Amino acid sequence: MEATKVKSWMEQVIRPEEYEKYLGKDGRDFIHEDEIESLLNTVRADASRVREIIAKSEEIQILTLEECAVLLNTEDPVLWEEIFAAALRVKQKVYGPRIVTFAPLYTSNYCVNNCLYCGFRSENAGEHRLQLTEAELIEEVKRLTAVGHKRLVLSVGEHPCSNVGYLVKTLKTIYGVKNGNGEIRRVNVNCAPMCVADLKQLKEVGIGTLQVFQETYHRQTYAKMHPSGLKSDFRWRLYVMHRAMEAGIDDMGIGALFGLYHWKFDVMGLLAHARELEARFDGVGPHTISFPRLRAADGTGMAENSRYSVGDRDFKRLVAVLRLSVPYTGMIVTAREPAPVRDEVVQVGCTQIDADSRIGIGAYTAENSNADQNLKQQQFELGDTRTLDQAIRDMAKLGYISGFCTACYRSCRTGSHFMGFAKDSKISHFCMPNAILTFKEYLLDYGSEETKKVGEKLIRDEFERLDPVFKPVVSEYLRRLENGERDLKV
Ligand code: SF4
Repeated sequence: MEATKVKSWMEQVIRPEEYEKYLGKDGRDFIHEDEIESLLNTVRADASRVREIIAKSEEIQILTLEECAVLLNTEDPVLWEEIFAAALRVKQKVYGPRIVTFAPLYTSNYCVNNCLYCGFRSENAGEHRLQLTEAELIEEVKRLTAVGHKRLVLSVGEHPCSNVGYLVKTLKTIYGVKNGNGEIRRVNVNCAPMCVADLKQLKEVGIGTLQVFQETYHRQTYAKMHPSGLKSDFRWRLYVMHRAMEAGIDDMGIGALFGLYHWKFDVMGLLAHARELEARFDGVGPHTISFPRLRAADGTGMAENSRYSVGDRDFKRLVAVLRLSVPYTGMIVTAREPAPVRDEVVQVGCTQIDADSRIGIGAYTAENSNADQNLKQQQFELGDTRTLDQAIRDMAKLGYISGFCTACYRSCRTGSHFMGFAKDSKISHFCMPNAILTFKEYLLDYGSEETKKVGEKLIRDEFERLDPVFKPVVSEYLRRLENGERDLKV
């Protein structure tokens, strides 16, 4: 595409009037850096206060910034063990022993932005730029459905060639692919922030969760990391979920890229974001929170050289504190992380993982193994290249059912409906039957013998623990699945 056309497209994207109306009377947005810094510098953690805060979280109440700072500033290793244990209890209370499973699908790596940590950035001349054709897209989706995936996260760079019209067309194509018993039932989208009118188009075509990550809530670092392109506008990005709510998308995924600035600050930023959404939109907070760590990427040494790199010990801490701070939210740990780290943080509160992930453009249909990564076509390097079957088996061994359920979304249980269930801890009762049914479907159609063995035992155990109200219908549906029916949900 000609540079002049790209430039004129860029001039029309950002509409300050769509976020200025949300600013305070003093012209400030909701990230009060002075308050966050002051809390982190002054708040001290003592055992009784930490336990009080844990108790509040176990009542499924969002924490204040001050309470979050207390947890973050905890130093006693014994208290940290209590925090980890509480994080798992909260997760089990809200979500039960299940893990939602999805795959990322990257379809275009053209990008007008220049994020210093990303292989797709415009100034990375070494990146091999591609956008899938419709036929290639269909083949990628067939490959994903052939191994059992039902949920995708569609990811693209920010560019006129991957604008809202492109996303609408891509979503329609993905939903239209049928492959035996295989189909994609939910597509979440990780994309650039858009205006309300564009977001309405995504709503109409059946977007799942809209994911836009702020990367860092620390303005000065944000400016340094995003020196040019549309992404350099901090507030256009910060208020995208407000615009999403205006557009009718009440299923929102926020996130931060850990390693750009101090991890404690960005945990507080995420909580401030969740609290702002709750306060502004009648209790509807984020459906998911993501907390990727910086990874190696083509043409950048950011991950290797960042002074804010987060080690595994602090990573586990930040996951647990987020779990307790926003107790109702889904939490996503992606295949950026090595398998042992993922297995560990699943046990302090994560609820979603991707598996069998390939993040090159056209990588699912490439003639190579999962472990062969091509950084020239990827945004970053993956840490966990287990197949879906392996990941599901490993989760089952840890006691987690891998669910592919999309029932809430397809029954319009999103936004305030979903929040009501989550905050009353009813998801675990309601969703376990559907998790069992979609797990059974997976085992019947795609599971290896080894995974079936572990999985069937887990299904029997979890069936016994089900609310008695659901047992007759689940038993009946399991029988019907064995007889060849599919997509049965409670
Ligand atoms: S992080 Fe996103 S916006 Fe930034 S360069 Fe990469 S693809 Fe583009």
